[in-house]
Amino acid sequence: MSAAPSAVSPLFATFARADVAFERGEGAWLYTESGDAWLDFGAGIAVNALGHAHPHLVEALTRQAGKLWHTSNLFQIPEQTRLAQRLVDHSFADRVFFSNSGAEALEAAIKTARRYHYARGNPERVRIVTFEGAFHGRTLATLAAGGQAKYLEGFGPKVEGFDQVPFADFEAAKAAVGPETAAILIEPIQGEGGVRPVPHGVLRALRELCDAEGILLVYDEVQTGIGRTGKLFAYELSGVAPDILASAKGLGGGFPVGACLATEAASAAMVAGTHGTTFGGNPLAMAVGNAVLDVVLAPGFLDHVQGTALNLKQKLAAVVDAHPDVFETVRGEGLLIGLKCVKPVAEVAAAVRGHRMIAIPAGDNVLRLLPPLIVGEHEVAEAVARIDAAAGDLVAAGA
Ligand SMILES: *Cc1c(COP(=O)(O)O)cnc(C)c1O
Repeated sequence: MSAAPSAVSPLFATFARADVAFERGEGAWLYTESGDAWLDFGAGIAVNALGHAHPHLVEALTRQAGKLWHTSNLFQIPEQTRLAQRLVDHSFADRVFFSNSGAEALEAAIKTARRYHYARGNPERVRIVTFEGAFHGRTLATLAAGGQAKYLEGFGPKVEGFDQVPFADFEAAKAAVGPETAAILIEPIQGEGGVRPVPHGVLRALRELCDAEGILLVYDEVQTGIGRTGKLFAYELSGVAPDILASAKGLGGGFPVGACLATEAASAAMVAGTHGTTFGGNPLAMAVGNAVLDVVLAPGFLDHVQGTALNLKQKLAAVVDAHPDVFETVRGEGLLIGLKCVKPVAEVAAAVRGHRMIAIPAGDNVLRLLPPLIVGEHEVAEAVARIDAAAGDLVAAGA
């Protein structure tokens, strides 16, 4: 374990950090300075899609670091164009805007949706329908989109223009759409909200509603994208494509990268001068993003993710059955897995940490498992054993 933090930290106290620091990582394993190995089924909150120190990513980053870091978007950035083209070739999209984070990708998505209607002579169409339990980021607009009171409190007037309806409630969404609506924004599977998949029929109905009303369907795939669900993007599971999609987390494999993908029609109004970023899409980030796609799009990789996920979920189902006082169900798609807890999830996560394994609490009293997509049978077996042992501890403690 690391040394205890000093009494007065120079950092904002915005995070309740566990008292452990890691020095290096390899694959799904993290190592403290004193050499303790931790099994990482959090992957930096679904970020380290290829685990730690993946040789192909290390090579791409170090090679680029010796050539060119940053030029700004005043110039051509060939690796940026190449990454955009690859995302276009493997999705519904025709165009991409790169940012540094998920929230910024969502900001670009929201602006793109509003500008679409503005350019078509409907400047009143600015409102966006969102869903309870959503998480879209921590900027002022994405907080308003997420609509969670606990995150909005104390930060002044809520950004106008978001109408929230109950989770996955199509009728409520339909009722919320009016003459000022620009778009419907939804996570195909809520991540922070507790690994809650939206039924495919609801996504299909939302698509039809958007088409009928002339409004845009926007997916937040910041957490679900880049292979996490066993598909490049989770919307492929339903076959219901959006007009705009926000990606981030796994896209940079640990390097900060976000992207807003859109169809030609949805992005047509985003012309020179309408939006921008200093850092977004810089050569370092793009070298890593391309390296991530080299691996994720390689033949067989996503099949491997699906196979691993099936194996993990089956084994977890047995753990759930064995500990009905701790766990209720296992759910999710691919390697975005939620264990719905009976005991408070914070206690369960702490018990798992006691076995040197990282899993991440989410809403709805769910423990999230977000392992790197490269985990193999050994890590799956280890994870299941550690979760089983942690559940045993909780039962023994009689808490
Ligand atoms: C993490 C997350 C975001 C915010 O991403 P940041 O990079 O933290 O800004 C937005 N939407 C979803 C679904 C996320 O999981």
